[in-house]
Amino acid sequence: MPKAILLDMDDTILSYDHGVDTDSCWRRSFGSDLSCDADELLLSIKESAKWYWSDPERHRIGRLDLHKARQEIVNMAMLKLKVEESAWVSRIAYTYGVERDKCVELFPDSIDTIKQLRKQGMKLALLTNGNAEPQWDKIRRFELAPLFDCVLVEGEFGIGKPDERIYLHALGQLGVTADEAWMVGDNFEWEVAAPQCLGIKGIWIDHKGAGVPATATAMPYRKIKSLAELLTLL
Ligand SMILES: [Mg+2]
Repeated sequence: MPKAILLDMDDTILSYDHGVDTDSCWRRSFGSDLSCDADELLLSIKESAKWYWSDPERHRIGRLDLHKARQEIVNMAMLKLKVEESAWVSRIAYTYGVERDKCVELFPDSIDTIKQLRKQGMKLALLTNGNAEPQWDKIRRFELAPLFDCVLVEGEFGIGKPDERIYLHALGQLGVTADEAWMVGDNFEWEVAAPQCLGIKGIWIDHKGAGVPATATAMPYRKIKSLAELLTLL
């Protein structure tokens, strides 16, 4: 039994990518005065986004300023289609962000699960990557802060996952050692591979049942399909 659990937020406690129809969010952001084909633009945006988010350093910079990252992605997509409507770039990026935020919601049972963990005397930390403002908007919107002994947001703390300093800081705040803690989340690198290098046990949430990535250099201590399933491991 662990003494403490470190929890990821996006796609662990609430839906951010998983279960969100991002295609519809893009389509709603296009507006009605597009001079290019919406399907082509969507495809081009998805290609650009895939390229943009595939590099860890670009990902780190981008998630700290999502609006700027989305502008770059849309701009790149439009250039590929030779669409010269630069005025749209910011509007589409902004509206997509608004539409995207509207889709974010708690997974069923995630709050009950966290409350149950607290009841069992578990110390809890929330470790979330991204800029302070949007991450704190979600923490406030879903009233998460009072459920945790420690909340660390990358944009505020200055360091994010998978840098070992954020896990070590959380352990220090909770007053536990690495072998007394579990890290739970959906990102294999951030919530399994990196924390396990420190001796924290990684519990991987594999929503889609995709299995451990072929390139993985670590095996998760346990694999679950939703946060609620965590209780069955205790
Ligand atoms: Mg996540």
